[in-house]
Amino acid sequence: MTTQRSTSTLLPTSTAGSLPKPSWLAEPEKLWSPWKLEGEELVLAKQDALRVALQEQQQAGISIVSDGEQSRQHFVTTFIEHLDGVDFENRQTVKIRDRYEASVPTVVGPVSRQKPVFVEDAKFLRSQTKQPIKWALPGPMTMVDTLFDDHYKSRKTLALEFAKILNQEARELEAAGVDIIQFDEPAFNVFFEEVNDWGIEALETAIEGLKCETVVHICYGYGIKANTDWKQTLGSEWRQYEEVFPKLQQSSIDIISLECHNSRVPIELLELIRGKKIMVGAIDVATNTIESPEEVANTLRQALKYVDADKLYPCTNCGMAPLARDVARGKLAALHAGAEIVRQELSA
Ligand SMILES: [Zn+2]
Repeated sequence: MTTQRSTSTLLPTSTAGSLPKPSWLAEPEKLWSPWKLEGEELVLAKQDALRVALQEQQQAGISIVSDGEQSRQHFVTTFIEHLDGVDFENRQTVKIRDRYEASVPTVVGPVSRQKPVFVEDAKFLRSQTKQPIKWALPGPMTMVDTLFDDHYKSRKTLALEFAKILNQEARELEAAGVDIIQFDEPAFNVFFEEVNDWGIEALETAIEGLKCETVVHICYGYGIKANTDWKQTLGSEWRQYEEVFPKLQQSSIDIISLECHNSRVPIELLELIRGKKIMVGAIDVATNTIESPEEVANTLRQALKYVDADKLYPCTNCGMAPLARDVARGKLAALHAGAEIVRQELSA
């Protein structure tokens, strides 16, 4: 049973998703980095990169492993590229998450998925390991927020359409042997009214009928300048989670993935989602400084005041794609070592 596979270790560790790509695959330390190969060479290179990313997680002792997002350029756009109804030539400049301007593709007709997007990659990962595997998909609200909509003219309608497509993909990922499916929803930290109006409803549509575990990842973004500048404006206490936690607590989502380490999120907000499993971000992805195991352990100890030990999943704050590979490796090792300290304390 998949659920047992993912919870057999106390404090199972995982990453939010992405890991740095090798320099032979794409230019390092960069988001949206273009591929260096094409055609069949690219297909094989992505598989090789996935193998390396998997091995790095395994050597670090990570419990729930992923593909490190080696086969996608961007956590939202790569999925959308595979859908009908979105025109990537026709671009508009929009403000993403009310924060930074970006040139984005346009929704020009009904959106649909003609064929699976990540299912072959997931099967490949499944064939490489017997450990529990987690797969990340973009969340419907964050997808809507990364496009210009010239067709539905309603964020809610478009989100629900995307949610149905995500559900098709998620069911196939589950059938391919994925144990945990994650939806990345950084937009949940910005558009609170919409989250409560239709964001969580869209998420429920995306996970409908799934038997594997499901996660929603809500962070303050990668360590890029637009995000770190935004964080400076948020004041001494980040209470954004407070707006969406009550409704998330009532939702069918199994696990909530959060940014905790070096963030100004008051840890007592976790009380609002008691009962859920929590992926506690104990690694800061916006700094090259590698956490000490004791720093990681300390963040986990704080979270343990509000999360039962059997529901606590040590994790990273967000993806590590923009970091240098040795930094990311060091952070994986720190995550494992910090979790191990707390495991010892819990079993003493
Ligand atoms: Zn994130």
